Amino acid sequence: MPLHSGFVCILGRPNAGKSTLLNALVGEKLAIISPKPQTTRNRIQGVMNIPKQKGRAAAQIVLIDTPGVHKPDSSLGRKMMTEVREGLEGCDLLLMIVDVKQRPGVEDKFLVEMVKKAATPVVLLLNKVDLLGKEKDKLLPIIAQYQQLHEFREVIPISARKKDGLDRLLDVVVRMLPQGPRYFPEDQVTDQPTRFMASEIIREQVLLDTREEVPHATTVMVERFEEGKKLTRIAAVIYCERAGQKAILLGKGGQMLKKIGTAARLDIEKMTATKVYLELFVKVKAGWRESPEFVEGLDWRRQLEALTGER
Ligand code: GDP
Ligand code: MG
Repeated sequence: MPLHSGFVCILGRPNAGKSTLLNALVGEKLAIISPKPQTTRNRIQGVMNIPKQKGRAAAQIVLIDTPGVHKPDSSLGRKMMTEVREGLEGCDLLLMIVDVKQRPGVEDKFLVEMVKKAATPVVLLLNKVDLLGKEKDKLLPIIAQYQQLHEFREVIPISARKKDGLDRLLDVVVRMLPQGPRYFPEDQVTDQPTRFMASEIIREQVLLDTREEVPHATTVMVERFEEGKKLTRIAAVIYCERAGQKAILLGKGGQMLKKIGTAARLDIEKMTATKVYLELFVKVKAGWRESPEFVEGLDWRRQLEALTGER
């Protein structure tokens, strides 16, 4: 049976139980990603590889976070709204989590507005059902209240803390995700997030320091990533499409590459909280976007871009 895969975003107001759910789903170990570059729209919070079982296809679920969506305050300008929406559009499925003990509030309405604009399917998770005790009949009126806000594809009562209802949740998620590629190699999942964040940071620096067609013709591949207690050794290649672009990336006497490397290193050091030894190379690989084997090795967002033709 083919693999179902996709990007799933968990949204909800503060204290709804997002972190608890995330940890219940992927375990502490994977829910690691911490500081992130400000311009990064989405970040990976965990990758779940779900083996095939009776009535459920094998799946890879990439849980991602859209910064900004959790804090609807007045400073949230139009640009920000657009960015959040675009972030949501990159997802295949949204899980909106609410505290079953709370009535729908302004924040929920805000979230629903965002979600409607993104036109991505949304599943409502009524969390903390353990607090209802035996009064399970109370669920129906609560569900009705939320359904007035939006036509949720499914409504699933869960207890993230007690890990209740998660099996049904996974059934629904796997069923709703499209058939797709394995975005992350199965055996490497644990160190992927930091590793991929490192390539994101380098790419971000390329975006900041170069102009015109160079950023879009560029992708970064981390070839070596050894995380020690005090030192992280990273070797990465910046791929571009033409010799002229390579010349720009290197700069006069290698100045540009040095600048990119230094700035990226400082950012990665913040993320890993270690010293970083970063080796950067520039290589030309014409038409890398069209090469499936190459694209397979890329960070998830570049893969997504290459797959969907978006950027
Ligand atoms: P977040 O702000 O959305 O990330 O929410 P958290 O995951 O930090 O949870 C907020 C609070 O709700 C914490 O004290 C959790 O222990 C609690 N909580 C989360 N899920 C459940 C649940 O299923 N049942 C109960 N009773 N408490 C929960
Ligand atoms: Mg949280």
